[in-house]
Amino acid sequence: MTGPGAEPPAPIDTSKAHSARMYDYYLGGKDWYPVDQEAAEKVKKVFPFIVLGARANRDFMHRATRTLASEYGIRQFVDVGTGIPTEPNLHQVAQEVAPESHVVYADNDPTVLEYTDALTLSSPEGRTAYVHADLRHDDILDSPGLREVIDLERPLALSMLAVTHFLPDEHKPVEIVHRMVERLAPGSFLVLSHATPDFNPAAQKAVDVYRQSGTPAQIRTKSEVLRFFEGTELIEPGLTTTHRWRPDGPSGITDEDAFFYAGIGRKP
Ligand code: SAH
Repeated sequence: MTGPGAEPPAPIDTSKAHSARMYDYYLGGKDWYPVDQEAAEKVKKVFPFIVLGARANRDFMHRATRTLASEYGIRQFVDVGTGIPTEPNLHQVAQEVAPESHVVYADNDPTVLEYTDALTLSSPEGRTAYVHADLRHDDILDSPGLREVIDLERPLALSMLAVTHFLPDEHKPVEIVHRMVERLAPGSFLVLSHATPDFNPAAQKAVDVYRQSGTPAQIRTKSEVLRFFEGTELIEPGLTTTHRWRPDGPSGITDEDAFFYAGIGRKP
């Protein structure tokens, strides 16, 4: 449960809105403070699509994880930017298909660290762990907590869902993701979702509220999001909006509602 960095996790700050807690608010969770509610309500006011978009993103996580476990035989998952637990969590989806699955979660928010119990309740056959780490400066794949549970010599799924849009270009998120994918065994997968202005330019207004409340963010166009997948081959149906990625049935939402790209790339 400890992080790879030398720095101990910062205490929970209830004076500033946090992206993990705002996301929990959109999803109808209860793990947020008044400051998060205030910022999330401001976002909803300028960009009401945020609620459907968050839900559709979460649903993509379920389908992506289930697909990789059931159709591609993946038994190891690393989920970076996990968020506050929301049932079903990724390990529950994976272990429902394959109880022996190993899952490691990582997030840099001390609020998420508070809730690791829900994330580490593994099936008896499988294993789970949580690493407190920052994607921007920690070598997550090298952290001892991850290495105890994940064998980097074998294929795994690295998921980064709704997280890289919190890294503006100055943090070089594309390079960070490429470096991580380089470390993975052939046959591994990158699962990534990312907010975009392509279908709903008003999403930029949500970004402005995040910035004003102290969380930098950058939404990206299709060609910009595709760069994260360089070095991998996108599996069908390629990069789509979240709700169009192998839907279970009619989603009832539009690209404008979903406003997130999602895709899975396979490392050859
Ligand atoms: N992946 C989940 C939650 C998305 S909310 C889902 O798609 O349902 C975004 C999460 O990314 C938050 O929990 C936030 O704390 C985390 N995050 C943001 N920047 C991060 C960073 N630099 N390192 C690690 N996690 C980060």
